[in-house]
Amino acid sequence: MEKSATNPAFVADSSLGRLAKQLRLAGFDTLIDPHPPNADRLSRLSGPNRIVLTRSTKVRRALVSQPLMFIDHDQPLAQARQVMAQLHIKRRDLHPFTRCIQCNQLLVGLMREEAFGRVPEYVWQQHRVFKTCAQCRRIYWPGSHTQRWLERMTSWFESSHELGT
Ligand SMILES: [Zn+2]
Repeated sequence: MEKSATNPAFVADSSLGRLAKQLRLAGFDTLIDPHPPNADRLSRLSGPNRIVLTRSTKVRRALVSQPLMFIDHDQPLAQARQVMAQLHIKRRDLHPFTRCIQCNQLLVGLMREEAFGRVPEYVWQQHRVFKTCAQCRRIYWPGSHTQRWLERMTSWFESSHELGT
């Protein structure tokens, strides 16, 4: 997949796991380096296409020649907003319900019959569309993991980020 300003990919240092999961919720390809932040490791993982996300000033100083974003905020939602604001990402660039929050894999469609018995009965009754992760087998349905987060992000986009556009 071609990477562009509105379809960026990331590698997050280990202190930013919750931010990485928010970016996956939004549909962005985001690796997490599980080891303590190290410039060489992060540089290798980022390759030519990924933006390094870090809270380490040491990493920031070491990686001056590649795309890197130093994250200022403590709260994951504020961190996600920083990333989206700095990259000029719009609400329409988000693709929720497309990527596994745990594994970063793209989700694939799951026949409704195959979801039977694997999700709560009331969920199966209420939903027609299910997706699954081929790696961890977790099952997703619209609203399952994304709805409240998406509402908060959308109201933020509407209130500040996209004013006048
Ligand atoms: Zn998964």
